[in-house]
Amino acid sequence: MTTAEDPRFQRSAPAPGLPPHATNYGAVNGGSSTGGGSSGGASAGQGAFAAGASAYALPGQRSAQGRPALTVEPGGGSGAKGHDSEHRPLDLAGVGIGPANLSLAALADGVPGLRAACYEQRAGFAWHPGMLIEGATLQVPFLADLVTLADPASRWSFLNYLKARDRLFPFYFGERFHIERTEYDAYCRWVCEGLATAGPRAVGGPGKGRGGARGSAAAGPGLHFGHRVDAVRWHPGLRLFELDFTRTDTDAAKQGRSYARNLVLGVGTAPYVPEPLRALAASTGAGAPVVHSAGYLEHRERLLAAGHVTVVGSGQSGAEVFLDLLRNRPAGREGLHWITRSGAFAPMEYSKLGLEHFTPDYTRYFHGLRQSVRDELVPRQWQLHKAVDHGTLAAIHDELYHRTLGGGWPDAVITPGVAVRTAGRVGATRVELHLEQAEQDVRTRLVTDAVVLATGYRERPLDGVLASLEPWLVRDDAERLRIDEHYRLVTDPSVGGAVYVQNAERHTHGVGAPDLGLVAHRSAVILNSLTGEEHYRLPRRTAFTTFGLRPEGALAAGTPGVAEQADRRHEGFRPLRMS
Ligand SMILES: Cc1cc2nc3c(=O)[nH]c(=O)nc-3n(C[C@H](O)[C@H](O)[C@H](O)COP(=O)(O)OP(=O)(O)OC[C@H]3O[C@@H](n4cnc5c(N)ncnc54)[C@H](O)[C@@H]3O)c2cc1C
Repeated sequence: MTTAEDPRFQRSAPAPGLPPHATNYGAVNGGSSTGGGSSGGASAGQGAFAAGASAYALPGQRSAQGRPALTVEPGGGSGAKGHDSEHRPLDLAGVGIGPANLSLAALADGVPGLRAACYEQRAGFAWHPGMLIEGATLQVPFLADLVTLADPASRWSFLNYLKARDRLFPFYFGERFHIERTEYDAYCRWVCEGLATAGPRAVGGPGKGRGGARGSAAAGPGLHFGHRVDAVRWHPGLRLFELDFTRTDTDAAKQGRSYARNLVLGVGTAPYVPEPLRALAASTGAGAPVVHSAGYLEHRERLLAAGHVTVVGSGQSGAEVFLDLLRNRPAGREGLHWITRSGAFAPMEYSKLGLEHFTPDYTRYFHGLRQSVRDELVPRQWQLHKAVDHGTLAAIHDELYHRTLGGGWPDAVITPGVAVRTAGRVGATRVELHLEQAEQDVRTRLVTDAVVLATGYRERPLDGVLASLEPWLVRDDAERLRIDEHYRLVTDPSVGGAVYVQNAERHTHGVGAPDLGLVAHRSAVILNSLTGEEHYRLPRRTAFTTFGLRPEGALAAGTPGVAEQADRRHEGFRPLRMS
């Protein structure tokens, strides 16, 4: 029986005496199927989640199948003591499976006894599928995989992926420090499949069926694809978080619920369209294509066939889209415009000391600053995260130059400092952009046959998922979530579990928040915080640069910073005691 068919999953009315959000359920299961989607996950029996599912009811209730319901101990201690381990709530439930939560799942696989599962709305793992342009590479070295910078011995490293595919020698001779994006995506899928099918973890290396740590087999974390988490809430009576989800992998959407002591939100970013272009972007149909770069590959053929294409935005995505169109349109009839309101098509800061802004040392320094200072810093550091890779800029120039060899210039216009004021459709097949160049104080119109909005991404709002937690959340003066040094939301002390966030903390942790190079370290910080142990030993020092001056009598390097001490407001939170 799948989760969706299981009658125990159906929500019903709140039980008398419970708060309105606490529904009266017979018994609840966090999921007995691991939908692998296109990544080919395992079914219930073989899936690692099989032993990580939660199926229990409120004290004193009976399950829908008539069996006495399992009781959850109030207080959220070790769970249903004395009951079968399958019937305990999760220690950690993750929302979203992008690189951030997949890294956490991979590293959680190395924590004996930790019961974790993640829920993803997509049918299978997919890393920015619309931008897997052929030849495009990661902007970080392959060492920034899901685990290596926290645990190079993990079985889920990129090098172990190559080994599993018998590709170590070609990689070694290829000397590629920056792997292709499609390869990173394939590696992440391999980790998903592995976590679902590898079976009990083994101490000291990969393998099936060996005993787990402390003499007992332990299942790895479960990955549930096709599950959109709609809401999470704190249940004070059970001292657990409830997660309500909708199955998106069935024809008829089915709803379910799962329970966990702690949460980690890794919902990533969503495509962003600036206000003047929103109405245009929303007007879909058979007319001129207007697409966000996030959906580029899906529309590539139409864009290549269009008479004239305008790319808006000068970040990495804009540069990659422009380059791909340029390379694949006929010489002399390129019909391309690339415009940006930024003052230049600027290169990314990639000096070795500059990159130290993406170290845990800088993250710690940034977190210790006053919020007003942090807010001033992030926009000033745009060249660390909003600019274009040198190699991509060079490739664009090379391609343009190549097209001048026969005489003449390519039909490609590249103009910085140009803002789109308004935009609209002209007839059925064209788009008109109203442009402004502020330095010249000039306004003009550009008529084009297609537009690619490479206008970036924004952190996906958490307000919807967190709405029921709102009374317990602590916000800053700008109504943003307060987040402590361990990536934990600052909550009312009465909340006995922790809510961690990944890639939602740029305002508190700085420009490194979305960076793949910090993913493994952040996951390890979270797991250490969760377990109350230094399960993953993390480096005391990570940069040659010393960020900031230390006030006299300050604590030694590696000890808690000012911000951490100030944020110790989690009186209700107790780290898990792994047994
Ligand atoms: C095209 C592109 C290329 C990039 N390249 C690099 C690079 O080379 N180097 C680098 O350092 N950074 C890069 N980044 C930045 C960053 O590393 C990536 O965006 C990365 O994917 C972030 O991982 P994530 O897990 O935080 O979020 P995401 O990858 O966005 O994953 C979040 C997941 O959560 C799911 N989700 C959201 N809401 C729910 C819900 N309610 N229920 C269930 N699931 C939900 C989403 O479907 C999604 O799959 C790139 C970004 C883009 C857009």
